[in-house]
Amino acid sequence: MTEGPIAQRPEPPAHNRSVPGSNPGRPIFSRGKDVVDNFKHLIKLQDLDSNIKGISLFLEQIPSQINQIDRRIEESFSAVKKYKEQLAENQKRRRDLDAEVEDLKTKINKFQNQLNDVKTNKEYSSLLKEIDDAKNRVDDLEEEIITKMLASDDIESEIRSAQAKAEQEKQKLLKEKEELMEKSSEMKQKKQSLSQEKAEVEPHIPQDQLSLYHDIYQNNSGIALSPVTDDFCSVCQIRIRPQVINELKEGKKIILCENCGRILYWKNQS
Ligand SMILES: [Zn+2]
Repeated sequence: MTEGPIAQRPEPPAHNRSVPGSNPGRPIFSRGKDVVDNFKHLIKLQDLDSNIKGISLFLEQIPSQINQIDRRIEESFSAVKKYKEQLAENQKRRRDLDAEVEDLKTKINKFQNQLNDVKTNKEYSSLLKEIDDAKNRVDDLEEEIITKMLASDDIESEIRSAQAKAEQEKQKLLKEKEELMEKSSEMKQKKQSLSQEKAEVEPHIPQDQLSLYHDIYQNNSGIALSPVTDDFCSVCQIRIRPQVINELKEGKKIILCENCGRILYWKNQS
């Protein structure tokens, strides 16, 4: 059989022939272009917008996360700070004790010199008692000084171990911060390239569809499109009437969900 170009051309089934005016219900937003074709761009746009929105949300909370890390770094040194305060207090107390001991020793010397000059036994024994009391006081103070010195050794050792622990924690947190900042700059770049892609997609969408998309996007927390799967609007879960399903399958016009107002599309178009 010889092949002729005309004879071999498949004839479309009669019901599917594209005859001007044969479509029931004029496409409401399509201007000559196929709505199905535009939908690919709308779906792409929604996808880009959703990704951009997700990245923006991620980027928005970066500064507070960084603040939190800085705060945790500071907190990890709080034990060091506490022990250093204890040490300073200990040292101050020791200085006070040392000074008091010095005073008492001076006093004892003075009393001992006075012993040579006393005239009466009563004065003599009273002075001896003063010396004795002062010596006892010195013993008590020196004992406290030793206790403080031992405590100070313990505190210094606590400082060293708290410091090491804090440094370790700090390094871990700094690494976390660095990773977060890297991720942040990576996401900024990604957002930029998605925005660029968006700028390339938008001109493919007729202006009226684009405005409709933007209006719905703005008023519906960033979701303008809703795929219909298993006869349900996938955003609000309302059942879509069979007539509307048929119209969606035809893809000749833009149809909004009667319940949530999103632009519906038949899932197979995606
Ligand atoms: Zn809906």
